[in-house]
Amino acid sequence: MIQPKPTIDVAVVGAGIIGVCTALELAERGLKVTIFDPAPVCSKTSYGNAGVISPWTCVPQSMPGLWKQVPGWLIDPDGPVSIRPSYMPKLLPWVLRFLAAGRSQRIDPVANAMFRLSKGSVAAYKKRLDGTGKENLVRDSMYVHVYRSSKSASLDHLGWQLRQARQVPIELIDKAALKEIEPEIADQYQAAILIKQQGRASDPAGIGIALAEKALAKGACHLQTKVQEINPDQGEGCQLVTDQGDYRAEKIVLAAGVWSCQLLKRFGIKLPLEAERGYHLVLRNPGITINNSVMDAEQKYVASLMKAGVRVAGTAEFAGIDAAPNYVRAHRFAQQAKKLFPRLNITNPEEWMGSRPSFPDSLPCLGEIPGLKNIVAAFGHSHYGLGMGPGTSEVIADYITRAANCETLLPYSIERFQ
Ligand SMILES: Cc1cc2nc3c(=O)[nH]c(=O)nc-3n(C[C@H](O)[C@H](O)[C@H](O)COP(=O)(O)OP(=O)(O)OC[C@H]3O[C@@H](n4cnc5c(N)ncnc54)[C@H](O)[C@@H]3O)c2cc1C
Repeated sequence: MIQPKPTIDVAVVGAGIIGVCTALELAERGLKVTIFDPAPVCSKTSYGNAGVISPWTCVPQSMPGLWKQVPGWLIDPDGPVSIRPSYMPKLLPWVLRFLAAGRSQRIDPVANAMFRLSKGSVAAYKKRLDGTGKENLVRDSMYVHVYRSSKSASLDHLGWQLRQARQVPIELIDKAALKEIEPEIADQYQAAILIKQQGRASDPAGIGIALAEKALAKGACHLQTKVQEINPDQGEGCQLVTDQGDYRAEKIVLAAGVWSCQLLKRFGIKLPLEAERGYHLVLRNPGITINNSVMDAEQKYVASLMKAGVRVAGTAEFAGIDAAPNYVRAHRFAQQAKKLFPRLNITNPEEWMGSRPSFPDSLPCLGEIPGLKNIVAAFGHSHYGLGMGPGTSEVIADYITRAANCETLLPYSIERFQ
C-alpha cells in the first residue's frame, strides 16, 4: 500500500560510500532519511577499492595524447586496461567520448570540478569518524608513485603540472629517499613522486559501515530491499517501488553506482555510464609493512597495508556490468606486487572484482535529472568515489536544502551528455 503522505524527506537509493556519506550529511542536517539497498552497506564497489583518500584529485583519466599508450596497454596481458573483444562494439561510443574528453581545452575545467569534490576529504572523514571508535580506519598517508626509471619520474608531465597549478604538495625523490620511506621496496625502483597530506583507508567498507551506523543513530533508516522503480514527484512526493512494497519520499537521491542508469531506462534517459571493472588481491600474511599507498606508476596498480593484509588493487576491464569476473587479472597482481616488494608473502591470495561507475570525462553526474522532478543524481564517481564521498555529500545536501544554487552543480550536470 502506498503511504498517503511522504514520511521520508529523502530516500537514498544505494548504500555504497556515496549513498552512505550523503545519508549521514542529510541526517546531520535534520532530515528524515531512509537508505534503500538489498545489499549490506558498502559491500559492492565500495568494498574493495585501493583505499586511497586523496584531497587533491584533479587529474582526469582521459588526457591529451593518452590514446598513443592505449594500444600497447591492450596487447600487454599485464597492462592496466583490457577490453573483452565481444564487448568492443558496445563500448566504442564511450571510447570516442572518452578520447574527446581528453582534449587540451577540456582538461582544466574537469580538473577544477574533480578538485572541488575531493578537497578536504581526509579531514572530513576524520571529523565524521570522530567519536565512533573507528577513528583509526583513516590513516595519514602519502601517495607514493614509484618509477623504475628516473627519467620517467618527471614533474613536467601534464598530470603533475595540473597538481602543481593547484598547489598540491608533491615532491620528487630519489632511490635513497624512497628506501627510507618504504624500506621494503625493490631495488629496481629508482625514483618516486610523493603526493603528501593524503589519507588511506585501513578498511574502506568499515568506514562506510561506521558512517552508516552514525546516520542510523541520528534517525536514518536502512531498508534492505531492492528498488524496482522510481517515479518523480507529481504532487504527492516521489514514489519508490520496492521488493517490500511502495514508499513515498519528498526527494530521492539516486546513488546506486554503476546500476543507477537501470532505474532511469524506463524514462528514456540514456547516459554513457560504463562498468570500469577493477580487481584486487588480498595477501593476509604479507610478512612486510607498507607505510603508505604505493602506486606502480607504469603498471598503475596500488598496494596498501590494510587491516586484512596487503591489498593490491587496480586495472580497468571493460566487459559490461554482468559479465563473469576474469580473476586471472587479479592473480597477476601477486607476481607484480612481488616485483615491487620482493619480501612480500603472496601465498593464499584472495581475489575480488568490483565495477567503477565511470563516465567518459571522469566526473560524476550530480543534481537535477531533467524531467524527473525531485530525483537527484549522485552517481558516476569512477576511480574516486572514496575520496569524493564527503565532498559529494556536501554539495548534494546543499542542493537539497537549497543552500547552494544550481550553478555549483553545473560541471556535473547530466545535460552535458544530452
Ligand atoms: C579496484 C578499484 C580500486 C579503487 N580504488 C579507489 C581508491 O583508492 N580511492 C577512491 O577514491 N576510489 C577508488 N575506487 C573507486 C570507488 O571504489 C568507487 O568510485 C565507489 O566505490 C563508488 O561508490 P558508489 O557508492 O557510487 O557505488 P557502490 O559502492 O557500487 O554502491 C552502489 C550501491 O547501490 C546498490 N544498488 C544497486 N541497484 C540498486 C537498486 N535497484 N535498489 C537499491 N540499491 C541498489 C548496490 O547494491 C550498491 O550497494 C576504486 C574502485 C575499484 C574497482
